[in-house]
Amino acid sequence: MAATRRYHGAMRAAIYYVLAYVLLDWVSYLHPVLPLAVTPWTPAPGLGLAFLLLAGLRQWPWLLIAALSAELLLRDVPLTLPWVVAASSILALTYAGLAWALGQWVRIDIRLRSLRDLTWLIGGSLSAALLAGLAYVGLYTVAGVTAAGDFPTNVLRFWVGNSVGLLVTVPLLLVWAGRYPARLAPSREVWLQAGSLMLSLWVIFGIPFTEEFKFFYLLYLPMVWIATRHGIVGVTLALAATQLGLIGALQWGGHHDTTVLEFQLLMLGLSVTGLFLGMTVTVRQLAEERLHRREAELNQALRLAAAGEMAQALAHELNQPLSALANYSRASRAMLAAPEHGVLLAETLEKIERESTRAGQVVRRLREFFRGGGLRLERVGVAALVEEGISPARRRAERLGADIRIVLDEALPELRADRVQIGMVLHNLVANALDAIGTEPETARRVDIVVWRQDGGLVRFCVSDSGPGIAAEMRARLFESFATSKPEGMGLGLSISRTLVEAHGGALWLEATQPTQFCFNLPVDTDSGTAAADSAASQPQP
Ligand code: ADP
Repeated sequence: MAATRRYHGAMRAAIYYVLAYVLLDWVSYLHPVLPLAVTPWTPAPGLGLAFLLLAGLRQWPWLLIAALSAELLLRDVPLTLPWVVAASSILALTYAGLAWALGQWVRIDIRLRSLRDLTWLIGGSLSAALLAGLAYVGLYTVAGVTAAGDFPTNVLRFWVGNSVGLLVTVPLLLVWAGRYPARLAPSREVWLQAGSLMLSLWVIFGIPFTEEFKFFYLLYLPMVWIATRHGIVGVTLALAATQLGLIGALQWGGHHDTTVLEFQLLMLGLSVTGLFLGMTVTVRQLAEERLHRREAELNQALRLAAAGEMAQALAHELNQPLSALANYSRASRAMLAAPEHGVLLAETLEKIERESTRAGQVVRRLREFFRGGGLRLERVGVAALVEEGISPARRRAERLGADIRIVLDEALPELRADRVQIGMVLHNLVANALDAIGTEPETARRVDIVVWRQDGGLVRFCVSDSGPGIAAEMRARLFESFATSKPEGMGLGLSISRTLVEAHGGALWLEATQPTQFCFNLPVDTDSGTAAADSAASQPQP
């Protein structure tokens, strides 16, 4: 069943391909050198080559069928069928040979990821077009259809038409058929670039100069702009648009055959330059992206390693007191069975107490270590605190096109706080908010920070975002260590933030889920506030 469906799918693709080939050949059948079918722009073989590269070499008979159909339907060659079959076979076999050489012999990546792939594609196309030209024109010369004296010019025409056709069509189809890693999204710049291409064409053809060729170089300007900004993805589109514009202008201008050929030679130069420049830019962009990905992976690995290290240190430090505790408890139970061991029992219980205190100290010491040695309280203004906390996230917010709005109550008192730690808390909350809004449409991305004074000597900070809300399976576990819904998350941000705020004598909680809002309180710098923070600093809670 699935095999039949696949077969039908392949057949349909092949038939569409033959139709597209004949149609493209018909559309581009301009300025032919009669009775030869040599035109200055021959994109159909490019379609054939791309089809073989994408659909597999086994499809080569379709190339023959397509070439033969085009030859019989569109041309008026005064020869018998065997000659026409031979001419079509030359085209089909040469380009099937090129597809074989590229795919099997030099094994290029058909998604065009490197300069090597592109160099082979361009070199192979130019050579195959020349070979096909020699054989095709040679055949018609031998058949007596064209004069032997015209052989070199006819081969040149064939070569130029086929080469431009291949270089404009094949990279375009290869890059746009699959999911190319780099993409091109419509933006104001893209429209400006398209406009500058049209402007260049208009200057070349719209203003009546005697020598239009002199102004062809103008097309290099938008092409270089497009290549440097969008790499090969942009260049392939720009070349196709330029070629269409060029052919359209030449056609409507009623230009002489030789002029068209000369323009196509210039177009060949533009295509090769544009493609190489675009590929160079794309290769750099891809390498940069790879580097970024590796950096992120490395960061993740380092964080995991740090967490692993911490877990190991904890296990090592706690193992001894815990097994001592277990032994003493066992011994105590045995002594309870024999009441005459009262003194021993008291001693053993004392040991249990000692060991559990030691285990508690280990945990506290480790926590102090990771927290950077306790609180460093100082008087600090709320505005400065908020600014310091969110400044590291500003660039990311800009990249996301998100608006971070800060609303501070008038006349907020100063706080006594560790600015680094509260900065970390704010940063964690804002980073989570930015993660959350990343999935929303750009116009709706917003993060709001509101701070106001409350009764009871407290200042409340709230961070809300326009994201989709908290995932249902996360709601109950938000503040647990290592609870995360993100592939690269550590799930420590909220639990650490809560510990840090509590160490200041404050509290942190989830205020609302739609929209998401996290809030925390900090005591103001009055005597009671200071006392709360100080006692929290000297006696961190486990
Ligand atoms: P991490 O960000 O590394 O996952 P956190 O402890 O900071 O760790 O957050 C835990 C989880 O809480 C996140 O994975 C996410 O599912 C959820 N969360 C936190 N903040 C938000 C928010 N603003 N919007 C939606 N979900 C959130």
